[in-house]
Amino acid sequence: MPELPEVEVTRLSFADRIAGARILSARTGKPLRWALGCDTARLTGRTVRGVRRRGKYLLVDLDEGLLLLHLGMSGSLSFAATQPPPGPHDHFDLATTRGTLRLNDPRRFGAVVYASNEAAPQAVKLLGRLGVEPLGDDFDASAFHAALRGRHAPIKQVLLAGDIVVGVGNIYASEALFLAGIRPTTRASRISPVRAARLHAAVRDVLARAVQKGGSTLRDFSNAHGESGYFQLEAQVYDRAGLPCRVCETPVRRIVQGQRATYYCPRCQR
Ligand SMILES: [Zn+2]
Repeated sequence: MPELPEVEVTRLSFADRIAGARILSARTGKPLRWALGCDTARLTGRTVRGVRRRGKYLLVDLDEGLLLLHLGMSGSLSFAATQPPPGPHDHFDLATTRGTLRLNDPRRFGAVVYASNEAAPQAVKLLGRLGVEPLGDDFDASAFHAALRGRHAPIKQVLLAGDIVVGVGNIYASEALFLAGIRPTTRASRISPVRAARLHAAVRDVLARAVQKGGSTLRDFSNAHGESGYFQLEAQVYDRAGLPCRVCETPVRRIVQGQRATYYCPRCQR
């Protein structure tokens, strides 16, 4: 499943090239998770102003309205001057004067949704409950600690919920908790200010390094493929059950929290 770093690298792969392009036509394929919400003809003639990211959504700003794109479980975007004829899993094409943006999504949990502006119900439904951006200036260590104090759930699940800080998926949550030395089962409300500050720094660190790693592969990125997976950061604990901790050599443990696998070092994480 594409996580925040993959979505950000996807954005970087085409945002500069599509900015300023005029839309020639749009094509929809099989139904996606949510309907486009407008006639494709409404997009023709519009100009793409730029591409932003909010959580795991890409926001393609038009001179009138915007498109909200989500990659779901298996979606990937490609932007190229010419695209081959659409295949069975190509469910959205946006043909522009600079090239065609295409969504390929075999499982169809992704979506492309039109909204007339960000305050419109279609946009608020998707973006309205998102927490702050982990890599943005609004993600502040003391505000983070204050938000955690109100939560009695285990910290790992609070990170995944996305309403305090957005886009910290399963892999990056496990890794950030290891870096911060915090056991994933710790109640969020019991994390001290010092440990919350350490976790805040760790979340930013793992995500920023993943974006950087993905960005370094961008040179030959005509495609930003979600399925090419994670940017091969050397995982400290994720998917390393039974293997020695890279710091203390204690075997890494695997547990299940909220139906998701969690990995941690019982010695380094308290
Ligand atoms: Zn350890």
